[in-house]
Amino acid sequence: MAAVARIPMREKKHVVLIAHDSRKPDLLAWAEYNKAVLKEHHLFGTGTTGALVAARTGLPVTAFRSGPLGGDQQVGAKIAEGDLDVLIFFWDPLEPQPHDPDVKALLRLAVLYNIPTACNRATADFLVAAPLFHQPYERQVEDHAAARQEYLAERLGK
Ligand code: PGA
Repeated sequence: MAAVARIPMREKKHVVLIAHDSRKPDLLAWAEYNKAVLKEHHLFGTGTTGALVAARTGLPVTAFRSGPLGGDQQVGAKIAEGDLDVLIFFWDPLEPQPHDPDVKALLRLAVLYNIPTACNRATADFLVAAPLFHQPYERQVEDHAAARQEYLAERLGK
């Protein structure tokens, strides 16, 4: 069985916000409603979503590229590096997206790295209402890096 790595999540969470175009009104309304809670954390977002959330709430949002232009992949990379704690991703359940492979890849990494993820408003409400949202927490993640090191050590005879 793979070893388990414990990844500390800060008290002030790094929260990333993403919404496909048809879901942006819902996410913006949610962000405005939860502004007081979100203010206590660090916000990130894909290009368009991030700019809209910043304009609507007045809160600072660090923006990546727009989702279809690589933003989802940037977010996935940040998750892999342990830089993001919570994913709020209102993806469109009714329309295909040009960057569907990126969407799938991002959701895969969110599951792999045990990232609390909300894909609709009710789940996002439950997430921000949870006491753990405001406390330090340790995510447990299977330590595949250790397994890769063992594999390499065997192959390289070290
Ligand atoms: P956007 O990207 O915030 O730049 O619209 C979101 C997405 O489609 O992933």
